[in-house]
Amino acid sequence: MTDLTAHIKNQIGQHGPMDVGTFMGLAVSHYYASRDPLGRGGDFTTAPEISQMFGEMLGVWVADTWHKLGRPKPFVLLECGPGRGTLMADVLRTLCAVPDCLSAARVVLMENSLALRQKQKEALTGYEVQWIETLDELEADKPLILLANEFLDALPVRQAQFDGEVWRERVVGLEADQPVFGLGAPVTTPPPFPCREGNIFEFSPVRESFVRNVGDFLKEPGGAALFIDYGHDRSGVGDTLQAVKDHGYCDVLDQIGEADMTSHVDFGALARVAGVDVRGPVGQGAFLERLGMAERANSLMAAGGLPERQVEIRTAYDRLCAPDHMGELFRVMALCHDADVELAGF
Ligand code: SAH
Repeated sequence: MTDLTAHIKNQIGQHGPMDVGTFMGLAVSHYYASRDPLGRGGDFTTAPEISQMFGEMLGVWVADTWHKLGRPKPFVLLECGPGRGTLMADVLRTLCAVPDCLSAARVVLMENSLALRQKQKEALTGYEVQWIETLDELEADKPLILLANEFLDALPVRQAQFDGEVWRERVVGLEADQPVFGLGAPVTTPPPFPCREGNIFEFSPVRESFVRNVGDFLKEPGGAALFIDYGHDRSGVGDTLQAVKDHGYCDVLDQIGEADMTSHVDFGALARVAGVDVRGPVGQGAFLERLGMAERANSLMAAGGLPERQVEIRTAYDRLCAPDHMGELFRVMALCHDADVELAGF
């Protein structure tokens, strides 16, 4: 039994069953607080860890967006949930080709794990970086360009389950002293879907309020935000809560706080609450290709190098862009208040 399992059992013993969002919030913050989970030796791999080309394309997107926003000086370049700092390092290296943009950027990382902040510091040696924990700490007078890759999926999601008559909050309780899923009180705003007994609907007040806050920033002082995550464009029923350990799935109630817990992002729900103009979602493959990733892969391959390096580039390209890998399941959505600003990639 993990330390966190003992804590959660204690909490449930004292206060009764907890909703899935509270449970997930505890599991995720415990998980990231104490480790670097990314890469081959960790539990899972993300796009920036697969290839430098991912961060390079996002760097191109930042430079292009900055131009289209009227080259604001200074502006805040914020990444939420930056993991090892690899993506921001690749973005900043790419921006070296656009020195005006690079010198105007005030780099801010929103990260609540001290272990990962340390990794980010190492990855971004030589750059001036500010860390924040919440959006409230952002300077409200500078336009914002925000990047978030696999961040929203880590924010807690709640679940409602249809019991044949009403939608009830799905909860984690105890049975024979073991954590088990159960049903709690009816939810106040039941989802507007035809449903069958047992159907599960996921909703995330935490993700929604985060995106609403970002939307408010984009109205004043302005800017644009880019979200990349696995998920769906339209709201629907389905249980997508998952736990991953050592690059494989495990039971959500096993290894609590020791496995990465996420759920698919309901981009449709987030688009409805953003309060600003929404671009996409489009597939990650199409997005990266529109930004020139095929050309980038070709030029990296033409630069020569060992045959293994060529294979590595082609394999990375496929993993990021092919529809049967990350190209379709991963969705890209952007927000911008000004509907006339044409953002690249959509
Ligand atoms: N974007 C990175 C890492 C994704 S993992 C990549 O693509 O490789 C999720 C990241 O979000 C981690 O850095 C984790 O510590 C951070 N995170 C999770 N919940 C958070 C929260 N509530 N506030 C700030 N950061 C959070």
